[in-house]
Amino acid sequence: MTHRLAVVVPTPAHSTIAGPLSYLSELPLSPGSLVRVPLGKREVLGVVWDLPSDQAQAAQDIELKPVAGSLQGIAPLGAAWRQLVTFSSAYYQRGLGEVALAGLPPQLRDLNTVQLARRLKRTAAAHDHVTAAAPELTAQQKQALADIEAASGPFLLFGATGSGKTEVYLHAVADALARDANAQALVMVPEINLTPQLQARFVERFGEANVVAMNSGMTNPQRLKSWLAAHTGTARIVLGTRMAVFASMPHLRLIVVDEEHDPSYKQQEGARYSARDLAVMRGKIEGAKVILGSATPSLESWHASETGRYQRIEMPARVGQHAVFPAVRLVDMNLQPKKAVFSPQLLGAIQERIARGEQSLVFLNRRGYAPVLACTSCDWKSECPNCSAYRVFHKIDRSLRCHHCGFAERVPRSCPVCGNVDIAPVGRGTERLEEHLGELLADIRHADGQPVRIARMDADSTRLKGSLEEQLARVHAGDVDVLVGTQMVTKGHDFRRITLVAALNADSALFSSDFRAPERLFSLLLQAAGRAGRDATQAAASEMWVQTFHPTHPLFGALRKHDYPTFAAQQLKERQQAGMPPFGFQALLRADARTQEAAQSFLNAASEQAAGLADFDRVTIYSAVPMTVQRVANVERAQMLIESQHRIALQRFLAAWQPVLHATREKGLIRWAVDVDPLTI
Ligand code: ADP
Ligand code: ZN
Ligand code: ZN
Repeated sequence: MTHRLAVVVPTPAHSTIAGPLSYLSELPLSPGSLVRVPLGKREVLGVVWDLPSDQAQAAQDIELKPVAGSLQGIAPLGAAWRQLVTFSSAYYQRGLGEVALAGLPPQLRDLNTVQLARRLKRTAAAHDHVTAAAPELTAQQKQALADIEAASGPFLLFGATGSGKTEVYLHAVADALARDANAQALVMVPEINLTPQLQARFVERFGEANVVAMNSGMTNPQRLKSWLAAHTGTARIVLGTRMAVFASMPHLRLIVVDEEHDPSYKQQEGARYSARDLAVMRGKIEGAKVILGSATPSLESWHASETGRYQRIEMPARVGQHAVFPAVRLVDMNLQPKKAVFSPQLLGAIQERIARGEQSLVFLNRRGYAPVLACTSCDWKSECPNCSAYRVFHKIDRSLRCHHCGFAERVPRSCPVCGNVDIAPVGRGTERLEEHLGELLADIRHADGQPVRIARMDADSTRLKGSLEEQLARVHAGDVDVLVGTQMVTKGHDFRRITLVAALNADSALFSSDFRAPERLFSLLLQAAGRAGRDATQAAASEMWVQTFHPTHPLFGALRKHDYPTFAAQQLKERQQAGMPPFGFQALLRADARTQEAAQSFLNAASEQAAGLADFDRVTIYSAVPMTVQRVANVERAQMLIESQHRIALQRFLAAWQPVLHATREKGLIRWAVDVDPLTI
């Protein structure tokens, strides 16, 4: 007897195949089974799906093809996992197959049965359990855990920096695992950088064999290994970045999303999903508890905790008897010497720290030496030939590098336009800041006569594998006096000797056209402040310095008091008046084309054909506009904002719009994409 199956396959981004395809099989394979099937000239990995096969798309007059094989050693993907994929595909307006297959390790399709059996055997051979002792919990940590125990959530753990949120996660995971011999927990962090430190803490507590990592920094064999361990249940804890939200975990009981406010949880290509939002949905589907943790929650989550949709748990105090928050010092740059990078006050404070053997952290959101190189006699600037952006000057290898398309060249000896040899850097990035600080502190010596040690940490200095860990180890060991870096250094790290944090150049975000810029700046500054004074014995002397031309801005008023709720209330009021998220809902339609005209013309055509579609009268479609960086790698980019006061209306409209978008042709159009709940508009 032959069975007809619905199978989801990895469809290309603009294929009109949205759902599963029909195939024939000799064996009755249950939904979730992994199979290899022919698709065009290729053979691809597919997942047997739930739809009745007569609903699966297949031309009746074409003979159905049989599946080529099934990965029988692997248990079918669970119903909850399939439901999560189905939801994501519908909500984020992407193909089912694309979402399903992106959630699986790439190597799965290359395995033959023999290799697979060997892998599974190796996975099953793991289980030993060594546990390090947990510290005595503080009263507020105990209360938080009791609250989590007593209710079903989702929970917003609003815990100050250094309040011991990680310890709460560790206990919540231990509680979940203790309740059921198979139970699994998923713990997510926004950045790969933060995984080693957290992984070490989880391994120490739960044993090596119980914990696996999942992130894009892993090799394909490593990813397969982790995936199999999670899917078979041998790994009880999965620790990963946003991709881990799709990990197959048949006994998932708890999901933790650490630093839930972090924009890195939003995928910016392919299916543009928010792993934070999907985590909440997944918890609902699986009946798993969800804990979102942050000292500066996203305004979406904060609002949900105000309305009671999320249960808020507060941990306002830092761990340790005398642990206080760093004092915030604002320096009015209008009163400083022109062109001063460091005000004399800030420089003095850094010197005091050096004299006391404490560390300082200075951050600036621009890597490289200078953002632009310019000719002093004509108006030549280091523009990128392929993008509407300047190439950044990197002094270390005397290159001009485009941070958008990657185009790099050696710095010309003279101006390419007028031949003038005097071409000069304009503005500064971390590389130049490090150099400048080195000059300013050149004469300072430690008591033992040693010079001041400055280190830099940014995407350039940490490119090589292992270099980040090495640099962090140097900071932790006290071999660095001043750490200069991009916002990378402000996130999550548990530095123990830093007592001063300084933000240079924070002002641009105050007047940005992006309505989320103030939220992001406040969060960045408060998180950065949180790196200082984490050791209770030094906390009293810790400081956060902000150099600004707008010291009276209300954002700084709230920062001074470490008062997130006041800041959030003020922002939410503005958002409500303007109908912005979380009070309104947004999506972007983006188009890439050979010319800006073609990109906009596609968007306008799509807009014209929207009239009369489902819920059209409940959405607002704005005009097509060029993106902020309009051209990248010689591709012109444009976008169009769609807004509604109702999430459901926006969803229904977007779904009805899909066929129109697929059918709209425009000469020169390269690709288009819908971004639901975009983070930058
Ligand atoms: P957060 O994630 O809230 O910023 P962490 O979980 O990193 O804070 O905790 C801050 C520091 O306090 C860490 O070094 C951690 O080991 C320590 N810590 C947390 N809880 C306790 C506790 N109950 N007793 C002693 N030290 C603790
Ligand atoms: Zn010139
Ligand atoms: Zn470029």
